[in-house]
Amino acid sequence: MNAQLATRFAPSPNGHLHLGHAFSALTAWTWARANDARFVVRIEDTDRTRSRPEFEASQLEDLAWLGMTWETPVRRQSEHLGDYQQGLERLQGLGLVYPCFCSRKDIAQAAIAPHGPDGTPYPGTCRTLSADVRATRIAAGDAHALRLDLARGLDLAQRLKGNALTFAEEGSGPEGETGRLPVNPVPFGDTVIARKDGVIAYQLAVVMDDALQGITHIIRGQDLFFATHIQRVLQVVLDLPEPTYHHHRLIADDTGERLAKRRNSQTLRDMRMQGITPTDIRQMLDLE
Ligand code: GLU
Repeated sequence: MNAQLATRFAPSPNGHLHLGHAFSALTAWTWARANDARFVVRIEDTDRTRSRPEFEASQLEDLAWLGMTWETPVRRQSEHLGDYQQGLERLQGLGLVYPCFCSRKDIAQAAIAPHGPDGTPYPGTCRTLSADVRATRIAAGDAHALRLDLARGLDLAQRLKGNALTFAEEGSGPEGETGRLPVNPVPFGDTVIARKDGVIAYQLAVVMDDALQGITHIIRGQDLFFATHIQRVLQVVLDLPEPTYHHHRLIADDTGERLAKRRNSQTLRDMRMQGITPTDIRQMLDLE
């Protein structure tokens, strides 16, 4: 095995897997086999309100049914919260994080920009609060999330790199973007790094885990293309290695809509019960 190369499939255990997940997992796994690389499954379960052990078990069962094998033990993000806390403290030390007291309603009302690829971009309301106001509100016990100041983060990352920040795309973005692409996260708004309940958000946990697990190739759907812009900034400011990205096409259902858990797409588990085989799945996904 070429221990230098590694990729991963990183499901959130908040539902059963569907064909879109099968495509993502099989694409990463097939790449790992072809390149003699490590293949890692990572359980992204920091959101305790939505994650359930039974979904994790069913997801791993589906992956095994599809014929995949992976390194054990599987890393569960909920067991490594201390690692992410250290990353958060580093970002705070760099002055890149600020408290945000806004409610969802405040954000929806203040939003001037049209919906971006990641939903309504945060309008930056709390970015400009004075240190005094922040301290007073925190002392008063006002609930607050922590947000990344993306413009400052990008500026620091560019200074650290000595030139414009880019990432390597071996697949393609939603508009066919490929090759060495410029990083431009600012239109997506200052992302939440720690939620009001203290849970470290996806963007920070994922970059830290990719580095900790030695992931060299990130193979995932185009729905996460925009997250890559934010993640590249985090990688540079946290001094983490640069992975190569491969964003792949998204799998649509019969009506042309993208498959998603929230739309009740048919699950792999249902398909298995109906007698559909892993070979059928590969054929449906044009992987044969
Ligand atoms: N856990 C994320 C999801 O299920 C995927 C994270 C990633 O591939 O970077 O959408």
